[in-house]
Amino acid sequence: MHVHSFSKGLPDHLFPMFIANGVTEIRDMGGNIPLPEVARIKQEIASGSRLGPEINAAGPILEGEQPFRPFSISVKNELEAPLAASQLVEQGAEFLKGYNTLSRPAYPGIAAQAKQLRVSFVGHIPDSITPAEASDPGQKSIEHLWRIPNNVVARPEKLKILSTDAANAQNPKAARELHSQSNEIILADYDQTKARKLHAKYSRNQTWQTPTLVVLRSYASIHDPALRQDPRMAYFSEDLRKFWGSMGGSPDPRNGDVQRRLFQHDIEIVRSMHAAGVPLLAGTDTLNPYTYPGFSLPEELQLLVSAGLSPAEALQNATLRAAQFLGVERNYGSVEPGKVANLVLLDANPLDDISNVQKSARLFSAGDFSTGLFWMICSHCSG
Ligand SMILES: [Zn+2]
Repeated sequence: MHVHSFSKGLPDHLFPMFIANGVTEIRDMGGNIPLPEVARIKQEIASGSRLGPEINAAGPILEGEQPFRPFSISVKNELEAPLAASQLVEQGAEFLKGYNTLSRPAYPGIAAQAKQLRVSFVGHIPDSITPAEASDPGQKSIEHLWRIPNNVVARPEKLKILSTDAANAQNPKAARELHSQSNEIILADYDQTKARKLHAKYSRNQTWQTPTLVVLRSYASIHDPALRQDPRMAYFSEDLRKFWGSMGGSPDPRNGDVQRRLFQHDIEIVRSMHAAGVPLLAGTDTLNPYTYPGFSLPEELQLLVSAGLSPAEALQNATLRAAQFLGVERNYGSVEPGKVANLVLLDANPLDDISNVQKSARLFSAGDFSTGLFWMICSHCSG
């Protein structure tokens, strides 16, 4: 429920990996392949001329005056907001994704237009608004717990000042120092009452969360040399391996320890959200560093279980709950007559141990339960 597969050359490379790992549908959260080409690729998959998952795609991301990503649409003011949203949907965007730089005046215009067009508005929480303010206008999902840990502290203003100072710092060393002060505040000043209030709001408004714990863990341990020795690296080009490797920077053991504690803190926030009834989705943020298409989903499920979900709940976040989020539960998400038979048959029970989702024996893709017609793709079959 959170991947990036629409950059040049990636569909050919990544789609077979999704299928090989039993991922039969993806929510693509933004890339630089134009929407008409995305539609053509979807058509090729539907007709069987290309191997790949079913796709729900955002296309370009909506950003503010100075976009962070080169493929984003820049929304400069509130007047441009509804127009930008409508144009994307006209071009074939199935939902709208907002990002960090969206301005405070533009944000509600996009949310309102998304409602009008009956598409969901999802993404990061812009720097200009708070996590609570994102929920009431109807942002449907928040990704990576974006800006949530920074706001469930007793003194969020202090963190805001530190982050502005870090952005304006004279040199990288000064910026690092300010960042580590911020991290200490996030950990030491956690305000459980504030967190509970926010989670109650998300539960009431059905503001879904895609914590993407697997990518948060990658960034938390980015200096760990073991990441670079992962045998799955062999599936990727030299360029991508170099790019991921370059994310490490200079290792600082002191920082590494804080990062690990911050990641544990993220797990605790997910635990508290789950206990409050906040709806969750399973996503990996692949192709960010050391997140592997399809391969990383079982790891995300394990991390969700470590945050207090039962194996059944974690599985449902990747199946039935995901289908409900996308509004396609009539045809997808559970094993029932009349539904599309996108399913993985396992050799061991995942309700006993969630890691059993990796013990797959067969994958059925785009079959139909009512007619008994299946397309079967597996390593043991020749037909
Ligand atoms: Zn992402």
